[in-house]
Order: sequence, then structure tokens, then C-alpha cells
Amino acid sequence: MNVYDSQILAGILQNAGYEQTHDPDLADLVLCNTCAIRHKAQEKAYSFLGRFAGTRIKKKGPLCIMAGCVAQKEKEKAFTRLPHLDLVLGTQAFGRFETHIKALAAGETRIVDIASSDDIFEGFSRDTPKNLLTGKNKVSRFVTIMQGCENFCTYCVVPYVRGKEKSREPSAIIEEIQGLAASGVREITLLGQNVNSYAGNNGQVSFADLLHLVSNVDGIKRIRFATSHPKDLSSDLIQAIKEIDKVCNHLHLPVQSGSSQILKRMNRKYDRDTYFTRISALRQACPDIALSTDIIVGFPGETISDFQQTMNLLDTVGFDAVFAFAYSARSFTPASKFSNQLDEQTKRDRLNTLLDFQEKITEKKNKAFVGRQVTVLVEGDSPKPRDGVVKKNEKTRQMFGRSDANKIVHFVSDKAAVGDLVTLEIMNAYPHSLWGEEVCKSD
Ligand code: SAH
Ligand code: SF4
Repeated sequence: MNVYDSQILAGILQNAGYEQTHDPDLADLVLCNTCAIRHKAQEKAYSFLGRFAGTRIKKKGPLCIMAGCVAQKEKEKAFTRLPHLDLVLGTQAFGRFETHIKALAAGETRIVDIASSDDIFEGFSRDTPKNLLTGKNKVSRFVTIMQGCENFCTYCVVPYVRGKEKSREPSAIIEEIQGLAASGVREITLLGQNVNSYAGNNGQVSFADLLHLVSNVDGIKRIRFATSHPKDLSSDLIQAIKEIDKVCNHLHLPVQSGSSQILKRMNRKYDRDTYFTRISALRQACPDIALSTDIIVGFPGETISDFQQTMNLLDTVGFDAVFAFAYSARSFTPASKFSNQLDEQTKRDRLNTLLDFQEKITEKKNKAFVGRQVTVLVEGDSPKPRDGVVKKNEKTRQMFGRSDANKIVHFVSDKAAVGDLVTLEIMNAYPHSLWGEEVCKSD
């Protein structure tokens, strides 16, 4: 979501005449699009923008902008730590960004815009900056279909910084995807905090309906989406994943904890057994589906037995990938006021135990692909080619692509190009990737 938003902000800057530079010393303007989900992300944003304080205060440095969730959360308070900030741009203020850039150019400073907007999604250009049209961006792009969240999980800051849940109109989504397809994009990832409660056209278009509409766009070969909330995983969606060929055989279904007691205190609105039931229904319809999840360890009051239930759930389900985080207390959230907070060391230890455990599961899942054929969408040259493989710009190169199940597969080819669909036989598997040999180009 953050990547998508950053691309929009970069597009608005491009329309205002700016060009991207990778050297901050050359920049006339520095924008940091921030994430407030965990304390560390917020601190990184503050420290990044802090680097420009000296020069900016002397009016020699670049204009400094804080955008996104931390901006929305901190408001004027951002100036206390960053007196040199010129603009604090909230999550619903992107439509007014261009006006603010003009005001800054005219000498205005310390603008704060955290106001809401009737139309969060439209009203600004979505032109992708030219220098972002490289590598993976050329073939695979994110498209936001919803904003906000009203689930109020007790640990989460999102409902307070992204506002009420709002679905974007299907016609605008399809128009954006048609434009991307015309520019060569082959894969779309639809984004929302809880895509399963998507309700476009005043509730007449469900998420499953939207998947059908997107699958009709010529040129789009693959559809992914995130995130699905287990409480709303409907049989309609399971059916759509099964029926629509272009929808990838992968579901990201964050469970957060394997303990029903913790799930209740997280306000997740499902328990351990319900999660297992949903996974069974899904696997019955799509036996080979790849699964990934998010886990929070060290939620206030998490006992060793709660933690073991989470480990047991990982063992039972056998996820292909797990994104695990140590609980981080966030402003406004009920859980930050719970009395039984765990110490940092315990959270870190549990996180490491869980990650080590999952790494073995992921490797085992990857090994099961050896000897099978998978089709990948080629994303580019492998960053670190194996010894003996000829490097970039030569005819035979080591490239990589992503399989339907979201596995990264490296392979050697003298004919594959970025954006091709290539069928590979899997020869070897590692914890984070697979190695394949070309069978044929499918497209
Ligand atoms: N809407 C998605 C999650 C968005 S936030 C969902 O409900 O699944 C992405 C992930 O960040 C969450 O799934 C959760 O695992 C993690 N997260 C959110 N708040 C957190 C917090 N306070 N501390 C640690 N991790 C958190
Ligand atoms: Fe946060 Fe829960 Fe909403 Fe996800 S569903 S964004 S975790 S409040």
C-alpha cells in the first residue's frame, strides 16, 4: 500500500516538473512517505527526515515533506522533532498535494493537511514516473481498491490513521488496470486492508465480482490480492480463486495468533478452530494453494502456552511464508493500555524461535516443488547470479521470476525477457528461492 501511495506521490511531483534523483545533496525536495504500523517504522521516518535539518534551517537544503500515516497521526506534533519540515501531508490529502507544492514554491512553509476528503481515490494523475518503469514495475503493479479499516483490532493503528473503510468504484479500478495493461503490465495486485469486504457501486459489486471484472481485462495474465481477513473469507471468494484461471493459486490470510484467548483480546472476531475450518474449506476447493500469514508475537498477556499454540498452528497449517512481528504498542490503541505488557527481550526471543521454526517449514514446502513444473512471470536479472553464469547484458543470463504460488525461481536463459511467462522444471530448492531449468516459453 505504501509503495502504491509513494508511486502516486512521485507521479504528482513529476507532473509538477520534478525529476527523481538518488543523491539527496542534489534534491530540491525530499519526501518521506511514512508507515505507522510499528514504532520502529515511525522512528526510521523521523530519523531519515532529521538528516536534512541543518541545511534546511539555513534555507539551503531541500524542502522537506512528511506524508502518510505518521503524518496523519502526528499532525503539528511532527514540528517538535522536525522543526525544518515544510509540509505534513495526511493519508487523505493526496488530492491537494499539487496545490501544496505550488504554495511551498511560493515561499509558504509549515503547512499541515490532515483533513479528510470525499474522494480519496481520484482527482489526481496516476502517471507513473518514467524512472519507476523499470524491472518488476514494468510487469507487476499494485492497484488500491479500498481505503481505511473499521475492524479495530486492539493492537492496530490503521483505523485511526486511514479512516473509515471505503471502496473505490469498479469503473475507476478497471480503467486504471486497462491503462497499466496497455503499458505492458501483466500482473496486478489488488490492495485493501480487508479486500473481502469490498463493496463497489453502492454495495452491488462484491470482491469476487471485481475479480471477474479484472480477469476480463486483456493483457492482464495474473491477479493477486491482499489482505483477506479470516472472518470474511467467503465461499464466493474461494470459488472465485478456484474458477478464475488468472487468479493466482496463493492466499495471504493473516492469523496473528494460534491462541483463541489472544485472538479474542485482539478483537479478531474468529478463533483458532474457525481459522482451521476456513483453511480446510480452501484446501478442499484448491488442494495445492500456497498460503502465507502474519503473526504477532508477544501480544500483552501472551503466555508461553499461548505462544506454543501459535507454533503448533504453524506446524499444523504448514504455511509457505510467514511475516512475523514483535508486538509494538501504538498510540490510540486499546492494547497499548493493557496492563500485562511483555518485556522486549521476551518478545524478541519468541520472534526468533518462531522464525527459525518457520524457516524449516518453508524449506520443506519449497523442496516439495523439486521435479515439478511451474510457470513464472519473469521480473528481471537475478541480483546475484550463481558462479559460472554469464552476467547481465550477455546473451545467456541468470534471470528470476515469480511462480503462481509466489515463489521466486532463478533460471538461466538466452531467450527469456522481462514480462514473459516461462515454464521451468524445478531442480533445486532453498529456504528463500527455487532453481529451475527452462522447459518452454508459454507466451
Ligand atoms: N489488514 C491486515 C493487516 C495490515 S497491517 C490484516 O488485518 O491482516 C500488517 C500486519 O502488521 C498485521 O497483519 C500485523 O501482523 C502487523 N501489525 C499490525 N499492528 C501491529 C502492532 N501494533 N505490532 C506488531 N505488529 C503489528
Ligand atoms: Fe489493522 Fe485489524 Fe484493520 Fe488489519 S483488520 S488493518 S490488523 S484493524
